[in-house]
Amino acid sequence: MNQKIWLSSPHMGGTEQNYIKEAFDTNWVAPLGPNVSGFENDLENYLGQDKKVACLSSGTAAIHLALVQLGVKLNDEVICQTFTFCGSSNPIAYQGAIPVFVDSEPETWNMCPKHLEEAIKDRIANGVKPKAIIIVHLYGMPSKIDELLAVANKYQIAVVEDAAEALGSTYKGRQCGTFGDFSILSFNGNKIITTSGGGAMVCNTEEDKKQTIFYATQARDNAPHYEHSKIGYNYRMSNISAGIGRGQMEVLDKHIGLRRDMNAFYTNLFKDIKGVEVQKQPNADFYSNFWLSCILIHEDAPFTKAQFQEAMDAENIETRPLWKPMHMQPIFKNAIYFGDHLSQTLFEKGLCLPSGSNLQQTDLDRIKKALNKLL
Ligand SMILES: *Cc1c(COP(=O)(O)O)cnc(C)c1O
Repeated sequence: MNQKIWLSSPHMGGTEQNYIKEAFDTNWVAPLGPNVSGFENDLENYLGQDKKVACLSSGTAAIHLALVQLGVKLNDEVICQTFTFCGSSNPIAYQGAIPVFVDSEPETWNMCPKHLEEAIKDRIANGVKPKAIIIVHLYGMPSKIDELLAVANKYQIAVVEDAAEALGSTYKGRQCGTFGDFSILSFNGNKIITTSGGGAMVCNTEEDKKQTIFYATQARDNAPHYEHSKIGYNYRMSNISAGIGRGQMEVLDKHIGLRRDMNAFYTNLFKDIKGVEVQKQPNADFYSNFWLSCILIHEDAPFTKAQFQEAMDAENIETRPLWKPMHMQPIFKNAIYFGDHLSQTLFEKGLCLPSGSNLQQTDLDRIKKALNKLL
């Protein structure tokens, strides 16, 4: 059997182990240390806009702490993009709050500004103003940020920007992960860079960063003993993981270039095949890291989605359906929803294809061959 071709697997740059070795040599084997502050520095420099970064144990933890700091409590309502991974929305439930799901627009597949406003108006008419809006840049594609922020500002609602899949993507030249009141990143094993597992909160002020770290380290008050006047969490990143992150930062831009090459490969591969649409950037304002390359298989394609998946599977090539919308998930089946079910169509027609920065020409040849065999 041929080696498996994965959607997105870790791709080390080579210097990661130096940072880890240094951590061992200096005994900084703890959820703090020089790699943590070094990685935070690297991210702050990369993102620009004078942002402050706090490294955490996961992207999901970062979203949770954003909601905590925005004062989201029991029975508050929080608006969230429905077309996303559950890491975006589960923290709403952690707080005992109520999710209100908003569907996507067709150009970026992210939250539709019109449906967002419709949702806000409806909830206000019902006597509950949403506490926060969670927007996502899915698969690395920047959402229609200006339009979404205009709606959020009009109603004075805080924005949590989920840039877990979008590190290195830009909107009008500005880095994704710098647009929210709080923004979050993920360094899980399958993301554009990885720390084996981890995440970060991107903050607007040093004070917000301090508060984030306070909540992420069990909310210990300033006292000689352990004194607690707030509920905290154990969400800080370890100095070992952060060492991997520092090495990964050295190759981030190179890896983004390779992911974008993968997208160009698929655009070319499917260009003459009727009914197969490769996700693309709407215009020059949107620069995607193309974390994953995605296709839609329409009715007039020469094969069905199932046939395509089967053909790839037979050659040990991984494919995966697009995210199943949150409002269709059993855990959120009674949730309030606004939209016209575009995300359901995307889920039904769409697939993610192998997109890693570590794919070789021989892998591309195998993918091409598997497609030709199917045709
Ligand atoms: C990966 C991901 C998260 C969560 O990040 P973890 O580090 O895995 O907890 C949140 N939102 C989106 C869109 C993601 O892809």
